Formats: sequence, structure tokens, C-alpha cells
Amino acid sequence: MASTNNENAAFEYMSTLPGDDVRQIMWRYADRYDFQMAVQSARALARGLVARLVADGMRNTHEWNDRKAELLTAFDESGLTTIFMDPEEGGFIAGPKNLALALVAFELSWVDGGAATCSLASNLALSPIHEKGTPEQKQDYMSRCVPPQPGEEREVWRGAFALTEPLPYVGVDTGVVSGKVRIVEWKEGEEPVLQVDKRGRFITNMDFANFVTAAVDSDDERIKGSCMVILDENDPGLFDRGAPTLKMVHQLSSTRDPILSLKVPASRIIGGYTIRDGVIIPNFNHGEVIEAVFRRTRVPVGLMSSAKLLSAVEPIIRYQRTRFRGGAANAPGSPRYDLGLQQKEDSLQRLVDVWATGEAGTALGFAAARLLDNFDPTERRKEDILAEQGVTGARAQMKLFKGMEKDALEYLELAAAAKGEKSARLVELEENTLVQFLVQESLANVLCPACKLWNTGYGATIMREAVSLMGGYGITEDCPGFLFQKWTDQQLEATYEGPEAVQRRQLSITLTSGLFLAQFRLWINELEKIAVENPDVGAGTLAAAMELWVWTLGYLQAAKDAEGKALYHSNRHGVVFPFADALCWLLASRYQILDVLELQAKGPENPVLAEGLAGFVNFFSDLSHTQAGRAAGEVSRICADLVHGFLAHKGAGDPGLNGFYELRRKTEEALRGSRLAKDRAATALSQVVIPEALDYPL
Ligand SMILES: Cc1cc2nc3c(=O)[nH]c(=O)nc-3n(C[C@H](O)[C@H](O)[C@H](O)COP(=O)(O)OP(=O)(O)OC[C@H]3O[C@@H](n4cnc5c(N)ncnc54)[C@H](O)[C@@H]3O)c2cc1C
Repeated sequence: MASTNNENAAFEYMSTLPGDDVRQIMWRYADRYDFQMAVQSARALARGLVARLVADGMRNTHEWNDRKAELLTAFDESGLTTIFMDPEEGGFIAGPKNLALALVAFELSWVDGGAATCSLASNLALSPIHEKGTPEQKQDYMSRCVPPQPGEEREVWRGAFALTEPLPYVGVDTGVVSGKVRIVEWKEGEEPVLQVDKRGRFITNMDFANFVTAAVDSDDERIKGSCMVILDENDPGLFDRGAPTLKMVHQLSSTRDPILSLKVPASRIIGGYTIRDGVIIPNFNHGEVIEAVFRRTRVPVGLMSSAKLLSAVEPIIRYQRTRFRGGAANAPGSPRYDLGLQQKEDSLQRLVDVWATGEAGTALGFAAARLLDNFDPTERRKEDILAEQGVTGARAQMKLFKGMEKDALEYLELAAAAKGEKSARLVELEENTLVQFLVQESLANVLCPACKLWNTGYGATIMREAVSLMGGYGITEDCPGFLFQKWTDQQLEATYEGPEAVQRRQLSITLTSGLFLAQFRLWINELEKIAVENPDVGAGTLAAAMELWVWTLGYLQAAKDAEGKALYHSNRHGVVFPFADALCWLLASRYQILDVLELQAKGPENPVLAEGLAGFVNFFSDLSHTQAGRAAGEVSRICADLVHGFLAHKGAGDPGLNGFYELRRKTEEALRGSRLAKDRAATALSQVVIPEALDYPL
């Protein structure tokens, strides 16, 4: 561990803002040169063209225009368009790309969320094809979306993803699809021709999309259920891009309400279909496709929000320091000249909150992206295995997995207990794809909605704090770092791809999974051990709050309210939603702690970092300790509210709650030191050297 506050004289503060050397270690891409190149490309574009577009007032109109369209060419020229593709499709990154895409979204959103959305939207349109499409669909559409190589004469295709429909149809509730598909022609021995009618609302990329992946429901007894279909602009019929959305956020992306009424061959059903007794049965219904897509695409959105918080730090420090410079009574060297608003404790401590929240959200988001990078190949191998075993249909799969759950639990226990050489059984379970699938899926089902929910929702609340630290400047168009736009943009990030209610609904179900909870319990043990070796990162604080949360879950699942109604019930949002929120605080804090430990462990291997490493480790430890304290407080409040709030107003004390009181006491005691950590982090922010000027135009 770097020097601690117990050795005051030797305590080392962070001297500069963390650069790529630090971030590559914390976010685990120090050994991925291809990812580093992608980050550099995205950064150059963000701080160049994107920042110029914002500075030139391009956000003052929701209409798409030629200036905004420069973004598309720039994405193509800088290689960002092809990051989504595999090398055989024309891309340059082999293997899973969740982390790479998340890093790009993070960089673009550092300057402007709309530009980030614009870059991600074509991938969103391709995702249904990428996740569930037939090999032909994948080959066809992925290669069309690759920019032409030198000497090639063709237009690069871009897509739009159309799920949301005009009121009163699809929004949060994706089950009420009004878009329709029916058979208009089916000649003997030939492919059926479908008529697709879909109206969209708020569809990104619609100004220039060449194809749309659309969710539709059957309007024909010869088609079973729902599906997603690919619609091309050249298909016969109506491809009306519709009215532009009068949005007040993300103006560097295009959004319209399209009206599509087109004839397409049945081969455009995403994932293909089978014919049984004269009925077309899509291989995947629209819900299955969407689930596979959103599980992945929601993570970069969460990271976009966290990038904004971290991007706010430097402009705020600069504003605070220079606030009083230039006045007659302020000579250089005086505290008022040098520190400005940073003489005030509150200014610094609120800035610590902004950074700590951004840091925790980023840690959670990148952890989710890395998990998905591991999960992608596991999921594909799982699908091959099930096909080989002839396990088809959701029910058969569920039955198989139910039987394997105990193997997965055994794997977790053996892996946690393993020291030195692995037992034969552990190796066997480690190599069992289905076991690994179950473990990873249980985690992905929690981490992905958690990062979308917490990073965007709570992130937006804290972004308001960032805006307020700039005073009146914060709510002007020319606020350095575009903080006001970032704040409002975050509200869209909390809304699109499923608003917070959708994420809470999913979490309230997935957090009760036995496999997830087994991992959660192992994390508590792990954090308790970390707390002994590294008392300064807040691991003990977090472990106590996690124990309280688990106890409360057991209580809520078993208890009834004063009127005899079950407490933990999926429709009882007043219970399950805040409880899901509480989990997000814990997860974000855990991954933040793990990032600090990674920096501490791997930092010394980087000779460039050796010099200032102790300062960075100290600072990030203080931030994570601060955040763990904040998380523990929030979790205590939520748990107490839920445990006590549904009891009758008058009644005797319940001895069954003694365990709860004890855990609350432990959690509160475990807050020791977290405010001292915040004080130190604040001091670091008053001393850290920042560049003379922001590296993008105002
Ligand atoms: C700029 C922009 C770009 C977009 N891009 C796309 C795109 O490219 N493709 C696409 O398909 N869509 C897109 N959307 C649509 C976006 O995904 C939806 O707006 C979003 O999913 C919410 O749907 P809704 O607006 O109909 O909200 P509603 O369904 O009306 O929900 C409103 C609120 O009601 C509450 N609520 C609703 N249902 C429930 C429930 N079951 N339980 C608890 N609370 C509930 C929640 O608080 C929710 O936030 C975009 C939207 C915008 C603004």
C-alpha cells in the first residue's frame, strides 16, 4: 500500500490528473493496443470535430444538417464505424468488443453524449442481426456497414433500430407491439413475401438510415407470434423518415418518427424461421432478440453518463481556482488568488462527490463490459452444445439448467476456497461451458441493468451538483465542458433503451437468483479480507452494508406487511424498486474498490507511473472509501425504511429484528474513517496540477 494518513509527513497526494497509464490499468486494457488505438481515435474526434460542432451552436437545433453529418464521415475515417465488426467483416478488432465499444462511447460522451449516441446507433441497429441473425444476414448487413476500402465504389450503410411506437403502443412495455407483419404472396416452392407496417417514435439515425431493424407482431394466422425484421430503404412501398423529434438533448444525433410500409422477403426475419403445417414460425420472437441486444447495448449508455461526471472535474477545478483572479486585492501567491473557491471546504467536498460517483459508475460499467466480453463466447459455445444435445425451446433449456445449478454453486465454492493447485473437480467445473454460462449469466443479468440504472439515474442527480459548482456559468451555453448540456443529456440516457423502471423491474427479479446471491456472499468474505490488508479503501464499510442488504432481502422475502400482504413481490414496486437501487450502490462501490486494488497491484509494473503511483493510489483509495461510506449510508436508510416502514404504527418491538439492529450498528460503526478519507481527497483536489486550458474549444 502507498503511504497512509497515519504517516502524515510521508503522505503523498496525487500531483496531476490521472492519464491513460493509470486508466489503462484500472479499466484493464493496458495489454490491448487495439483498444488503446480506438480510445485515441475517439478522443481526437471528440475533442476536435465534436467539440467544434457544439461550440458552433449545432446543439441549438434538433434538425439534422450537413455540419452534423460530418460526424458520420469522421466516424468512418477514424475507424470507429468498424469497431463493431469482426476482421472477416472488415473490422480490426478480433473477438468480443463490448469493452472496446464502451471505451469509445466513454470518450465521445466526455465531450458530447449525442455524438456518442450517433456513433452507437448504427451498432444498435445491427445488434439484432449480430446477436440472432442468420449467417447470411450477418455477412450481408455487417459488410454493407463497413466503409468502402480505397478503390471501392459503394455507399456505407447505416441503420436504425425501431422498437418504440407512437402512443399508446410500445414504450416501457415492449409487449404491446402494434407494428404488423402479414404474408402477401406465397407461391408454391418459393419464399413468402411479407407486408410489414411499422410506425416508430423517437427513432435514432432516421435521417440517414438505409435500413431499419423493426419489431413487429403477426397479423396473419400463417405467422406465429412476433419477430424482428430488416427493412431496406429500397424495398417496395413507403419508407417515410417521418417528423423530426423536437428533442432538447443529444442534438448531435438524428431522431425522427418514421412511417414504414414495405414488402420484404421472409428471409428478412431476423434469425430466420421454420415452416410447420403451413405456418411461418420465426426462430426468435421480438422479445428474445431485444433481450439479447439490450443486455449488451445498455452498458455503454451507463458509461456515457459516468464519463460526463469525470469530464466535469477539470473545468470545475479551473473555475474554482481562477474565480477571484484579476481583482485589485488579489495578488498572485495569496490564498484567494491561488485557491479561489477552493478555500471553501464545501466546494471541494462536493467536487469529491462528483468524482467519486463518476469513478464508481465507471468501475461498474467497465466491469460489466469486461464480463460481457467473457460471456459472449461462453454463450455461443452454450448454444452450440444445446444444439448438439438437441435441447430446443426455452422450457427444455430451463429444465436442463435447473438441474445444473448445484454444479454451478459447487464451482463457486470450490473456486473461492482454492489455494495453490486446483482440485480435479474444480478444473472439471471450470471447463464445463454450461456451468460457466450459468455463473456468468447470473452476474450479467444483474450488472447490466445496475449500471444502466445507477450510472444514468443517480449520475444525473450528481451531474446537477457539478453544474451548481459552476454557479451561474453552469447554466449558460458557454459553460466550459458543456456541463449543462451534459446534465440534460443524462436524462435521456436514463430514459432510452429502457427507463429506470425497466432496469429496476429486471433487477428485482435477477437479484434473487441463488447463483447471484452465492457470489454476493463470497464477495462479502473477500471484502472482509481486503479490509484487513487495505483498511483505507472502504472494503470493511462496504462488507458491513452488504451483510445488512442480504439480511434485509431474506426478511422482505419472508415477511408480510401489517395488512398481511407479501412484501417482496414483483408488482410491489414500493419494496422491490428501492431495494434494487440499494444493490446498485453496493455493486458500484465494490467495483470501484477492485479498480483501486488493480492499480495498486499492477501500477509498479509500469515504469512511467512509478513516480506518482503512491499519490494516485492514495487518492483513489480515499475516493473509494468516501463512496463506500456514502453507499453504506444509503443502503442503511433504504433497508431501515423497508424493514420498519411496513410495520403497524403501534406495536411491541420485534425480537426477530435483533439481527437487523446488530447489522445496522455494525454498518454505522464501519463508517469510521470515511469522512477523513473525504477530507484527504478534498485536499488532493486543492493541490493537483491541471493543464492551463481545457483541451477542447468552448
Ligand atoms: C432522443 C431519443 C432517442 C430514442 N431512440 C430510440 C431508438 O433509436 N429506437 C427506439 O426503439 N426507441 C428510441 N427511443 C425511445 C425510448 O427508448 C423510449 O422513450 C423509452 O423506452 C420509454 O418509453 P416511453 O417514452 O413510451 O415511456 P413510457 O412507456 O410512457 O413510460 C413513462 C414512465 O412511466 C413509468 N412506467 C411506464 N411503465 C411502467 C411500468 N411497467 N412499471 C413502472 N413504471 C412504469 C416510468 O416512470 C417511465 O419512465 C428514443 C427516445 C428519445 C427521446
